[in-house]
Amino acid sequence: MKYYYFSKTLQIFTFLLFIFLIESSFSSVETFDKTKKPLFVVVIDAGHGGNDVGNECSDLSRFKQEKDIVLPVALQLGGYLENLLENVKVVYTRTEDRYVSLEERVEIANNASADLFISIHANHNPIKSIYGSQVHIHNHDIKFSKVFAKKLMKQLSERAKRKVLKLQTKVDRGHNLFVLQNTKMPAVLVELGFMSNGQEEVYLNSEYGQTILASAIFRAVREYREVVQ
Ligand SMILES: [Zn+2]
Repeated sequence: MKYYYFSKTLQIFTFLLFIFLIESSFSSVETFDKTKKPLFVVVIDAGHGGNDVGNECSDLSRFKQEKDIVLPVALQLGGYLENLLENVKVVYTRTEDRYVSLEERVEIANNASADLFISIHANHNPIKSIYGSQVHIHNHDIKFSKVFAKKLMKQLSERAKRKVLKLQTKVDRGHNLFVLQNTKMPAVLVELGFMSNGQEEVYLNSEYGQTILASAIFRAVREYREVVQ
C-alpha cells in the first residue's frame, strides 16, 4: 500500500518535471522569437497497422506487436507538436489500428505539402544482443533529411538515452525504403529500438519509454524548425 502511494507520487512528480522541462525550454525559444512562424506541416506515419502487424513481439501476453508500439508514440508526438508549438499542422497516416498501404502513406504526405515526414517503426534482428535506435534517410543529397536525421539522433541519444546506431542511407541498406524514396519533402524513418532485444522490448512497451521517445522526436522537430523557418 505504502509502495503504491510512493510510486503514484513518483509518477506524478515525473510527469510534472517532464511538463516543466518542455515548457521551460519552449518559453526560452518564444522569448527570442517575436515574429509569428509560418505554418509548418508535419506528417507522422505510424508504421504498419491492421493485418500488417510489423515485427512480432516475443510474448503476446506481455508485449505488443510493432504496429501497436509505434501508434501511441506517433499520437503522443502529434499531441506535443500541436499543443506546444505555434502554427503547426499535424497530419497522420493513421490514428487507429488499420491497414494503410505504402502508396497511400506517400500520397497523404505529398498531398499535404508537408515540410517534414516522420515514419515510426520498431526493429527486429535474429541476433538478440543487437539493440539501439536507428534513423534512415533516402540519400545524402536530400540535405534537409540529413539535417533532421542528425538532430533526431542527438535527441535519441541525449534525451532518450538510447544507444544510437549509424545513420542509414539507401547505399548503406542496399535497398530503397518506399516511403523515403517517394515522398517529396525531407523525410526520415526512425526505428525506435529492437523488439528482439529483451531489455529494449520492455522499454518500447513501457509508457515511460514511449513518452520519452515521443519527447525526443518532438525536440528534434522543434530544433529542426528553428533551422528551416
Ligand atoms: Zn516496421
